[in-house]
Amino acid sequence: MRINVNVVLEDDGTTACVHCRTQLGTSPDHPLERAVTREQPSSAAGPGVHVDPSTFTDRPVVLRQTFCPSCLTLLSTEITPSDEPEYRTWEVHA
Ligand SMILES: [Zn+2]
Repeated sequence: MRINVNVVLEDDGTTACVHCRTQLGTSPDHPLERAVTREQPSSAAGPGVHVDPSTFTDRPVVLRQTFCPSCLTLLSTEITPSDEPEYRTWEVHA
């Protein structure tokens, strides 16, 4: 079952990169646990993100991106407080 354009749910319940079939997660509840994560200042998202996050919150805010560890396809992007371990959660109903 395809979760999105880059991630597939395999028959054994693991998740994998659609492009190179590298395992990304051991279960649908943690589909990107083996992905590579990079954090940068939120302004690295581009010219549309130009306001200093400290204007709105005391918490540090980052641009967090995850990539396939093999082919480096970009799997997810979020702007989130840096102390949030996983801002988005996925639910897969097979
Ligand atoms: Zn890949």
